Amino acid sequence: MAEKITSYRFDRLDQTLSQLNKADCAIIAGGTDVMVLHKSRRGVPPKIPKPIVFIDHLSELKQVYQNHKDLHIGACCTYSELLENPIIPLPLKNAIKTIAAPAIRNRGTLGGNICNASPAGDTLPLLYVYNAKVLLRSVNGDRVVNVNDFIQGPRRVQRLTNEILAEIILPSIFEEGAHVVFEKVGNRNADAIAKVSFAGYLRVKGDRIEDIRIAFGAVGPTMVRSIDIEKKLLGKTTPLAEANIAQVVADFNKIIKPIDDQRSTAVYRKNVALNLLHYFLSMKQIQPNE
Ligand SMILES: Cc1cc2nc3c(=O)[nH]c(=O)nc-3n(C[C@H](O)[C@H](O)[C@H](O)COP(=O)(O)OP(=O)(O)OC[C@H]3O[C@@H](n4cnc5c(N)ncnc54)[C@H](O)[C@@H]3O)c2cc1C
Repeated sequence: MAEKITSYRFDRLDQTLSQLNKADCAIIAGGTDVMVLHKSRRGVPPKIPKPIVFIDHLSELKQVYQNHKDLHIGACCTYSELLENPIIPLPLKNAIKTIAAPAIRNRGTLGGNICNASPAGDTLPLLYVYNAKVLLRSVNGDRVVNVNDFIQGPRRVQRLTNEILAEIILPSIFEEGAHVVFEKVGNRNADAIAKVSFAGYLRVKGDRIEDIRIAFGAVGPTMVRSIDIEKKLLGKTTPLAEANIAQVVADFNKIIKPIDDQRSTAVYRKNVALNLLHYFLSMKQIQPNE
């Protein structure tokens, strides 16, 4: 016989936060990672060793709005909802379209992708180059943390047990002129986990690079980004000289340390990652940040 578990599904966020403050609970948004993590034999319900709190229905966690130049995205927006929302930037939609298949996109949430903190989480490289922040809410109030500080490693985030990830903030996203790209390499174009992913952000003034950000997914325990390497490109004239490109590729070659696993080999991952970087820096592929 299946074991009984305690679960909560409150109508409001404040009730949910109050429960999280009383006891350590397992939060379930779409459940597409949680259910796989705790899966059991066929026909046997997953065993989750804590009381469960469902949050996917909470309207407070599903708002998407512009605040000055920033975009705020409710953590429990599903991928399908984000795809339908005209305010969501095109590069993020492009990344979402590569995630799983419609059934998973109807359940999976942006907040879940961040809190699961998989090295192959497809939204993460983009969130890193957007300099995204996460807004964490508890009975004690709100705190805002940079996504790269929040994510500590595979399945490790800097969340206190009484906190919920409420919003993802993309700062200054409505500023003109940035070009943002996302690339994912998997076994297929859809319904495949990334072997390598890449995001690039470029803002040029005149012909000089004013801001450039680069992040790789699935080639380390978490996203690989280096502010020091990016800084070397600031002020450089575009299109970049091949020597500049070669230097940046060589710099990343030193810090990208992929592994062999069931999806790919370390050698393949590194080659593809550096090729994507070279392609981005050659600026052959840029798209408006709509
Ligand atoms: C068949 C299949 C295919 C998939 N394909 C892809 C893919 O191509 N690319 C990809 O990136 N992912 C993929 N995934 C993984 C998954 O769908 C995504 O990571 C998704 O975004 C998880 O969101 P969720 O709402 O379902 O998270 P859940 O499973 O509900 O939660 C994941 C983790 O985050 C925590 N959590 C969730 N929301 C919050 C919150 N608001 N505050 C605090 N903690 C929270 C949970 O406690 C849990 O630890 C796939 C999964 C499956 C089953």
